[in-house]
Amino acid sequence: MRVAVIGGGAAGCFAAIEIKRRDPSADVILLEAGRQTLAKVAVTGGGRCNLTNSFAHVESLEKVYPRGFRLMKRALQTFSCKDTVRWFENEGVRLVTQADDCVFPASQDAMQIVRTLQNLMNRSGVEIMTGSAVATLRPGFECVLANGSVVEADRVIVTTGGSPKLSGLSFLDGLGLEMVPPVPSLFTMRVGDKGLTSLAGTLSEVVLGIAGTPFRASGTLLLTDWGISGPAALRLSSYAARHLADTGYQGTLLVNWLPFCEDLGSMLSAMVAENPQKRLSTVHPEGITARLWEHLISKAGLRADIRCAETGSKGLSRLAEVLRADTYPLTGRVHFKEEFVTCGGVSLKEINPSTMESRKYPGLYFAGEVLDIDAVTGGFNLQAAWSTGYCAAIACLRQNQ
Ligand SMILES: Cc1cc2nc3c(=O)[nH]c(=O)nc-3n(C[C@H](O)[C@H](O)[C@H](O)COP(=O)(O)OP(=O)(O)OC[C@H]3O[C@@H](n4cnc5c(N)ncnc54)[C@H](O)[C@@H]3O)c2cc1C
Repeated sequence: MRVAVIGGGAAGCFAAIEIKRRDPSADVILLEAGRQTLAKVAVTGGGRCNLTNSFAHVESLEKVYPRGFRLMKRALQTFSCKDTVRWFENEGVRLVTQADDCVFPASQDAMQIVRTLQNLMNRSGVEIMTGSAVATLRPGFECVLANGSVVEADRVIVTTGGSPKLSGLSFLDGLGLEMVPPVPSLFTMRVGDKGLTSLAGTLSEVVLGIAGTPFRASGTLLLTDWGISGPAALRLSSYAARHLADTGYQGTLLVNWLPFCEDLGSMLSAMVAENPQKRLSTVHPEGITARLWEHLISKAGLRADIRCAETGSKGLSRLAEVLRADTYPLTGRVHFKEEFVTCGGVSLKEINPSTMESRKYPGLYFAGEVLDIDAVTGGFNLQAAWSTGYCAAIACLRQNQ
């Protein structure tokens, strides 16, 4: 049996290794467009590779996989985060789980993951063809390379990753598969308020939202010179990826600066009552930095030098409103520096969710980000690549028995 794996990223390399491990006689050829395999894995997690998550605090898969959570539920039953940890540790990669549940190699070096997978492919005899972009995939199967040469295979696993443009999937055009138009996910957003962005720094737990939509996301917030980032903003960009693409990344950002305070009015009243002679700007609530507090006082329309006793009930209720539902204009998406995945790709309707096999073309499988599956940050995207790559590999061998 000859298996062609198209795309030498996380999902493709993992699938190729699993096939050879289970059936050393299988002829596995990996076709990679780039000059080397696993180029993206090398830069994941800021070069440290957040390769999975313990899922210890995941209440619902929908919260971490905005697209594809049902399929991921099945895939994780076959190959879970615990299996990922065991798999890599069996290959001699010591892993550490951080307090935030993210799992990294103890070496803090993504290249250790890259070298482990590359060594396993070499040792098990996966034939690797780099510089081999597939221009057309024909049923049967024929992988027509950009240079015109043809690689034939009995089975094909497509693992070409996320493509922010539909043209990145054009090699599949002849198959008539349903595609979900790709749009970016996990990006930094521009906010049109210099007063806010000039506060550059990290703020503890906030809840962000987009006015007039159900999209809400919590977590720490990173204010940068160009906009908002950090876990809360990246989560919001993921949940609202398609909505934001449709609106041209415009809208009104909602911020709840103190989501854990149940009664903001009472908290503020007590704060000013305890410090009547102090300037309001010097007695900020817990969890709000001094500079942010000054900014919020001004947004509430209060004087910078006002004393606590002068705030008055109207002033306090304006402050409570700003703390609870502050608003900022969203003015665009930042096109650099972001951790980036694609929402969209091959429609999940096209595949059997247990085997990743095409419903139209038996013997053709899909895995990884090429599918309409994507996650928030935290190691969930790579876990999707390992789980779906594994499912495709075992199903592809099963079909041969
Ligand atoms: C900067 C950055 C940091 C990230 N950090 C993390 C992280 O820490 N944790 C996490 O879980 N996720 C992270 N992600 C997301 C994660 O890297 C991806 O979700 C994951 O790599 C997807 O794996 P894949 O195998 O589906 O695709 P990829 O890893 O993108 O691999 C696809 C491969 O297919 C090749 N290819 C494409 N088209 C063709 C073609 N026509 N013919 C042949 N080959 C082709 C590409 O060259 C590529 O090598 C990060 C992403 C980025 C951009």
